[in-house]
Amino acid sequence: MSQMEIERRQDEAEAYIRSVVMKELCTVMEKTHLTPMAVLRLASRSIGSIYREMAEAHSGIDPCPCGWRPNLESDVELLGMALMTACEHQRTAELRTMRVAGNA
Ligand SMILES: [Zn+2]
Repeated sequence: MSQMEIERRQDEAEAYIRSVVMKELCTVMEKTHLTPMAVLRLASRSIGSIYREMAEAHSGIDPCPCGWRPNLESDVELLGMALMTACEHQRTAELRTMRVAGNA
């Protein structure tokens, strides 16, 4: 598989996950009246526990045959970086939009 094809599949997967998670977070906020930060924190905790479950399926006796072997320290660092980068990127994009709107 070419690098471009891998990136295309990753972009597609991210867009799909994002739309599903956004829809579900909005549903939860409507039903529970929890704040956006409370709901986002729960979503982050859920990703953490999903990581742990996936890591367990890839460790010990008879692990998943796909070949991935979890490394708690570097995996958590990678997930934390992905979260920070995405938050920062969104903030930058919003500032840019605000600046454009301010000039209009
Ligand atoms: Zn696997």
